[in-house]
Amino acid sequence: MEKKNVLITGASRGIGRSIALKFAAEGYHVFLNCRASLDKLNEVKTVIEKEYHTSCGIVTGDVGDPRDVSGIFEQIHRSCGCLDVLVNNAGISYIGLLMDMRDDEWRRVIDTNLSSVFYCCRAAIPPMISRRSGRIINISSMWGNAGASCEAAYSASKAGVNGLTRALAKELAPSNIQVNAIACGVIDTDMNRQLSEDERQALEDAIPAGRYGTTDEVAQVVWDAAHAPAYLTGQVIGVDGGYL
Ligand code: NDP
Repeated sequence: MEKKNVLITGASRGIGRSIALKFAAEGYHVFLNCRASLDKLNEVKTVIEKEYHTSCGIVTGDVGDPRDVSGIFEQIHRSCGCLDVLVNNAGISYIGLLMDMRDDEWRRVIDTNLSSVFYCCRAAIPPMISRRSGRIINISSMWGNAGASCEAAYSASKAGVNGLTRALAKELAPSNIQVNAIACGVIDTDMNRQLSEDERQALEDAIPAGRYGTTDEVAQVVWDAAHAPAYLTGQVIGVDGGYL
C-alpha cells in the first residue's frame, strides 16, 4: 500500500516533534519543517529513520514568508504530488504589554502564527481538491478563545486561526477536506521555559488537571482528529486539562 504523506510545520522540538514521531510510528512519510534549528530537525529525522524505519523529508523555511512556503510546497509536490495531512503547528509567543509592542514584533507574531496557516493551506489545498480528500489540523491555543493578559498579539493570532479553521472547513467540506483546530492549554515545551518555578506552580494550581499537558497527549489528539470520521470538521477542540 502507498504511504500517506504529512507535513508538520515547526517539527524541530516541542509539540511538532511529538506529532512527527506519532505519524512516523504509524507509517506515514513525514515532511519535517522548521525555520532555524536544522540540527534539531536532523536529529528528529534520524530518530524517525532508526526507530520507525520509515522515510522522512526535510523542508526548511520560514512559514511566515510566502516565498519560503512556495519553495517548501514545490519540493513536497514534486516528491509526493499531494499531502494527505497538513499540520500547521509552527508558532511563537510574545509576552509583554501591548502598549510597548513594536510594529515588527506584532507583524512577526501574526505572520508566524496566522499568515503561515493561510500560506500553507493555500498551497496544500489544490491537489487535495483534485483528489477530493485531505485533512488540515491547525494548532491553536486556549488563549485564542479566552484571551491572555500580556499576550494580546498571540491571543489575536490564535483567535484568527480559530476563525480561519471554521470558515475554511465550510469552504472545503463539499470537496471532502476536513479542517479542525486543536486549542492547547499549557503544554510542557520550551515555549513555557521562561516561567519561574513560582509562576509554574501558580499555573499548575489553576489547571483543574493539576499539571501541564504533555506533547504526546497533544500528538495523540492531532492523530485522532486527522483520522476521525469526515463529519468532524470546523471544530476547535480543547486540550487544556479542563482549564477553560
Ligand atoms: P516550541 O517553541 O517548542 O517550538 C516551536 C516550533 O516552531 C519550532 O520547531 C520552531 O523552529 C518552529 N517555528 C517557529 N517559527 C517558525 C517559522 N517562522 N517557520 C517555521 N517554523 C517555525 O513551541 P511549542 O511546541 O510549545 O508550540 C507549538 C505550537 O503549539 C505553536 O503554534 C504554539 O503557539 C502552540 N501552543 C503551545 C502551547 C504551549 O503551552 N507550549 C499552548 C498553546 C498552543 P525554529 O526554532 O527553527 O524556528
